[in-house]
Amino acid sequence: MVEAKRPGMIPVSLTEIAQVTYGRMLKQATAIHDRDNTDVLVHSVVTDSRQAQDGSLFVAIPGEHVDGHDFIETAAKQGACGALVDHIVEHVSLPQVVVNDTVKALGLLAAHNLERRRALPTPFEVVGITGSVGKTTTKDLLAAMLRELGPTVAPIGSFNNEIGLPLTALRVNESTRFLVAEMGASQVGDLAYLTSIVPLDIAVELKVGVAHLGVFGSVDRIAQAKSELITGLLPGGISVLNADDERVAAMDKLAPGRVLWFGLADGSRPQQQLDMSASNIRTDDADHPSFQLLAAGESAVDSKLNISGVHNVVNALAAATVAHELGLSTEQISQVLSDVGFVSPHRMAISHVDVEDVEFTLIDDSFNANPDSMKAGLTALSTWGNAEDKTQDSTYRIAVLGGMLELGEQTLALHRDVGAYCAQLNVDALVAVGGRRGELSVMAQAMVEGAQVQVGGEAGNSAALALFQAADTDEADQIVRKLASEHPGSVVLLKGSHFSGLCNLAERWQGKR
Ligand code: ATP
Repeated sequence: MVEAKRPGMIPVSLTEIAQVTYGRMLKQATAIHDRDNTDVLVHSVVTDSRQAQDGSLFVAIPGEHVDGHDFIETAAKQGACGALVDHIVEHVSLPQVVVNDTVKALGLLAAHNLERRRALPTPFEVVGITGSVGKTTTKDLLAAMLRELGPTVAPIGSFNNEIGLPLTALRVNESTRFLVAEMGASQVGDLAYLTSIVPLDIAVELKVGVAHLGVFGSVDRIAQAKSELITGLLPGGISVLNADDERVAAMDKLAPGRVLWFGLADGSRPQQQLDMSASNIRTDDADHPSFQLLAAGESAVDSKLNISGVHNVVNALAAATVAHELGLSTEQISQVLSDVGFVSPHRMAISHVDVEDVEFTLIDDSFNANPDSMKAGLTALSTWGNAEDKTQDSTYRIAVLGGMLELGEQTLALHRDVGAYCAQLNVDALVAVGGRRGELSVMAQAMVEGAQVQVGGEAGNSAALALFQAADTDEADQIVRKLASEHPGSVVLLKGSHFSGLCNLAERWQGKR
C-alpha cells in the first residue's frame, strides 16, 4: 500500500472507488511510476492536476475551454495514483477508473466517504448553509466557531456547487468532528442533488432574495429551490430559519424535526420565540456592528463583529444559532465574532489604498453582486464614518458599481432600482461601470438613469450625488483616482457581478497585479 504524505479523506482503494462509482477499472502499468497496483490507497481527490500529490485521485472533468483528460500525465508527475475518467485515455501512466460522468462519480465518492465517517462511533455532524446572500460569510463565521469545539472541515471561498461540495466532503476523515457545507442553487433540483451527496444534520436558511432571478423565473421558484435544503435533512434533522424572512419562515412546515429561529429582536416577524437574536445594533466608524447577543433563556452578551456591514449581524446570528446548539456558549461565540476579521476574499474587505500617491479607503465587496447584496453594500458605504452627524462628516463616499447578471426580464428595472437607492443614501458619487460585454454597459446606463430620476424627483442627499458612467474598469480607475485626489479621506465601495471584473481592479489598487 502507498501512504500519502498529507492526510485528506478516509483512505480508500482504487478498486473500491470503481465499485462505488459504478466504474470500470483499467490497469495501466507504467514505466515511470510503479502504479499498476489497483489496491493502492487513495488519500485525497483533486480536479486540478497541479494540486495532485502522493496518493491523490485525479478526477478529469471536461470543461468549456479545457478538458481535464488532457492533464492526467501532469497529475501523475505530481504523484497522483489514479485517474477517474469518462473515456479511456491512451498513453498515460496511471490506472484509470472509467465512468459515464466524472462529476456524478465525484459526488458518489464524496457520499461514500461521508457514509464511512458516519459509520464510526465518534460524533460527526454536518451543517449545510444556503440563501441568496450570506452563505460564504456565515460558513466562515460558523467554521471559526466550531473549530473551538473540534476538527472542522469547511470549504475555502465559495466551493458550493456539484464539484466544490464533493471536493470539500472528500476532506472529511476519521478525526473530523464537523463538516460545514455551503450549498448554492441556480435551479430547482440543485439542492436536492447536493443534499443527496451530503445529507444534513442541520440546515441553515438565510434568505430568499432575487439572486439568479433570470434563471429561476420567479421568487417563488427561488423559495422552492432553497427549501430543498430542509427536505434534504436527515430524519429528525434540525432546521435553522431566519424569522425575518417571510419565505424562509414558511419553510418550517417542511421541517422533519426541531426548528431553531434567529432574527433581529426588533424585526417584524411571525410570533415565534427567537432562539438567537440581536438587539441594540450600532456601528462604529468603520461600520463594524456591535449588538446584544441573546440566546433564549440566557443573559444577553455584548458582542461586536470584526467585519463591516450591519447585514452581517444576520449571518452572525445564523452561525451563532448552530454553534450554540452544538455546544458553544454565547460568551465563546461572542469571542469568536470579535476575532474573525477575515472572511473569504473580496467580501467587505477593508483596506487602505495608495495608488501613485492617491490614497483612499477601499471597501472591496467585488466578489459578486445581486440586488440584495448591492443594497447592503451601499448601506454600509453610506454609514461609513460618522454619517449620522452630517455636520461632522467630511468623508467622501464613492460607489463604484458594476452590473448584476442573471436577473432576466427584471434586469433593467433592478439596475434602475439600485441607482435610485444609491441616490437616496448618503453617497457622494456613483461610478457605474460597463465592460466589454454590451449588456454590462446597458446595466451601467440603467443605474445612472435610476439615480437621475431619483435626483430629479427628490431633494436632500440625492441632490449631491455626482454621476459618472465608465466604459470599463480602466476608465473607472481614472475617475476614482481623480475624485479621491480632489477629496482626501474618500471611501470607495467596489461591487458588481463577478463577470464585471471589479475584483481585478481591487487587486490592481492593492498592488497585487
Ligand atoms: P455568492 O453565492 O455570490 O458567493 P454568498 O451567498 O456566498 O454569495 P457572501 O459571499 O457571504 O454570500 O456575500 C456575498 C455578498 O452579499 C457580499 O457582498 C456580502 O456583503 C453580501 N451579503 C452578505 N450577507 C448579506 C445579507 N444578509 N443581506 C444582504 N447582503 C448580504
